[in-house]
Amino acid sequence: MNDLTETHSVAWENDEVRVDVLFSAAGVATNIAIVSKFSGKILLADVGDGTLRDLLSQGSLDFVSELNLIVITHGHFDHMGGLYSLLGFLRMLKRSIPLDILIPKGCKEASSTIRIFKDSYCDTLPFQIRVQEMGHDSEFHTDFFHVHSLEVEHFGSENATGEDLLMPALGYRVSIGESVIAFTGDSRMCPVLEEIVTGADLALIEATGSTSVEAGLKVHLTEDEAKQLGSLARNYLLIHRIPEIES
Ligand SMILES: [Zn+2]
Repeated sequence: MNDLTETHSVAWENDEVRVDVLFSAAGVATNIAIVSKFSGKILLADVGDGTLRDLLSQGSLDFVSELNLIVITHGHFDHMGGLYSLLGFLRMLKRSIPLDILIPKGCKEASSTIRIFKDSYCDTLPFQIRVQEMGHDSEFHTDFFHVHSLEVEHFGSENATGEDLLMPALGYRVSIGESVIAFTGDSRMCPVLEEIVTGADLALIEATGSTSVEAGLKVHLTEDEAKQLGSLARNYLLIHRIPEIES
């Protein structure tokens, strides 16, 4: 049997931060946990399908209280499809501290999912959900994570005509102490990607396109483009690969 988790999960750490790519595969889910090793606080970078399952697979319920911030790159289902379940679990386990969620400005998928959840449980939600819309050059700080967002170029086909249009999409740089973790979200090659990854201790870079023939894709980076970007960071991991499914 093809175990996708085996080939689509990876971890990295330094003295200050641990990065668990819980799972990342194009069209399935991207779920990344960035953990401050000093405080134990967790930032989730994208919350695709199975985020809750992946967190529980780590064998601890600490995330119920230690989850400090959720950061969403864009509204495609494989990047935020697990949000509703995660919020439901936090409610069930009676999380009491507020939760901040950063979403791209105009990201209807994320804002409406959160609104429906809040509307459904308005009388019985034990914690506050605070949504912050982020744009180009926005910043957001908690006591543990400093987040800087930059607009990337990712085409979606969510409009009625089927024509591809740029969608609200962000890449992020996250500072934890002296360490910087960068993630591109989904993006075609564009100059701002260099700004996102340059000098980062770890850059998580989408590499959905497999061959150089696909260079110049409107929607994603190729592996070659992603590696080229990665060389600007101290370390990098290629994520969001297309899963190989035996037919
Ligand atoms: Zn996407």
